[in-house]
Amino acid sequence: MTDGGLKSLTIVGGGTAGWMSAAMLSRALGSTVAITVVESDEIGTVGVGEATIPAIKLLNGFLGLDENDFLAATHGTIKLGIEFVDWHTVGQSYLHAFGPVGRPLGMAAFHHYWNRRRLQGHDESLWDYSLNARAARAGKFDRLQQAGGGYLEGLVHAFHFDAALYAKYLRRYSEAQGVRRVEGRIVGVNQHSETGFVTDLTLQDGRRVEGEFFIDCSGFRGLLIEETLKTGYDDWRGWLPMDSAIAVPCASATPLLPYTRATAREAGWQWRIPLQHRTGNGHVFCSEHISAAEATDVLMRNLDGAPLAEPRQLNFTTGRRRQFWNKNVVAMGLASGFMEPLESTSIHLVQSALSRLVALFPNRDFNAVEIAEYNRQTALEYEYIRDFLILHYKATSREDTPFWRACKAMDIPDTLKARMELFAQSGRVFSQEDDLFKEASWIQVLIGQGVLPGAVHPLTRQVTDPQLDDYMTNLRQIMARAVDGLPDQADFIARHCASG
Ligand code: FAD
Repeated sequence: MTDGGLKSLTIVGGGTAGWMSAAMLSRALGSTVAITVVESDEIGTVGVGEATIPAIKLLNGFLGLDENDFLAATHGTIKLGIEFVDWHTVGQSYLHAFGPVGRPLGMAAFHHYWNRRRLQGHDESLWDYSLNARAARAGKFDRLQQAGGGYLEGLVHAFHFDAALYAKYLRRYSEAQGVRRVEGRIVGVNQHSETGFVTDLTLQDGRRVEGEFFIDCSGFRGLLIEETLKTGYDDWRGWLPMDSAIAVPCASATPLLPYTRATAREAGWQWRIPLQHRTGNGHVFCSEHISAAEATDVLMRNLDGAPLAEPRQLNFTTGRRRQFWNKNVVAMGLASGFMEPLESTSIHLVQSALSRLVALFPNRDFNAVEIAEYNRQTALEYEYIRDFLILHYKATSREDTPFWRACKAMDIPDTLKARMELFAQSGRVFSQEDDLFKEASWIQVLIGQGVLPGAVHPLTRQVTDPQLDDYMTNLRQIMARAVDGLPDQADFIARHCASG
């Protein structure tokens, strides 16, 4: 007798997405579903994803990973946020720091009180009120639940790590959970003649791998979701015109900074991601405005240390699959779509897709309503991130190159237009369900990019000027003292999680 439950699941691809899927699903499903991963060493992985956001701690926690062990195994470091250099104007920089900005004061959100003071002529930086931003700038870190004697929330961190080592780490974990790995190049994807459902894969040596349900983690090509099922792709290059990246690691520089740096260039931007043993670098660019040779030259001239490998080029089309789940195939990772790594969202999108899949895990009848719900939620999540990324380009004052002039003048989605207008007029910004970036993220990027609210929030008037002055002075002092007491990140790593 069958209870209608799936008995087998086949994951195509063993990059970061493939092994994250194997680890999380084997943990969630236990021994009820047999999981197989098919990967080809000959084809290899992208392996450049190195920066994450704090939610990754939830995945690691769900898997029961020890954070120090994980950091040592992946040569990882701490990330407290991202510094954006030269995005608003050349010579200016701001942080998108994780964690709260300020501390609750009255009925309005903290930044409204800061804005009231700004409109009164005070020139305090918003980031004077972010513990994460202060610690990042000082190069410091410690794991803290609370700071300032319990007056403040502690630091909120994510990680920089070697994505290839993370995939290996998760492979060991998954195999220990009973996941079967098949090494081999897939040369054929076979479908049911009537339903079009995928039934099995043919490998180059003639072996066949069957499955009832397939997770396509085959990278940009989307071996099942696109090459087989012809699902279709929404191309977003009209809003996010970057289409290439050159990546190169270089020798580490001191101090070991606990944040990613994203520096705007004439037709794109450059990332700098410090790991324990090297610094990851890359130049993301728009090939309509700069050639690959010039982009490589810009990157190589702007490294902090000697290059450790030949620069490598990757090409991509920003956008998303029209359906993330089609028939008995769910696409994860690069197979599901791609947005440039400006806010380190790709690995997170794998994680959140997996959470959604667990919540909507199918029976053998593959209920169409559940599949539609999965696709609806995933599409929304993509669109919110897309808007957040476009904001970084649209809200620039730069007019020094054709690329930046085009960004400043471009038309943007109505959803983003509405958010920017509301914020510019009143400082209000609301995040929606499925919106990855919450109020603290939006206000930092909006204000950092020069979108400054023109009016005071009426509810801030319940606090008098002298009361507000005291509160803000006190808060700055408490934050400064809390950061003074922290160790340098390099000391933290040497003490807890050095990769040896
Ligand atoms: P891949 O790494 O391409 O893996 C594909 C797998 O499929 C491989 O195992 C391959 O062997 C297998 N495969 C393919 N075809 C076949 C076949 N025919 N037979 C058998 N096996 C096959 N993300 C972040 O979160 N932060 C970042 O900072 C970040 N930076 C990035 C920078 C760039 C320039 C790019 C392009 C991406 C970046 N990403 C980042 C994204 C991140 O690298 C990917 O999301 C992540 O690595 C997942 O990749 P993947 O597993 O989907 O695909």
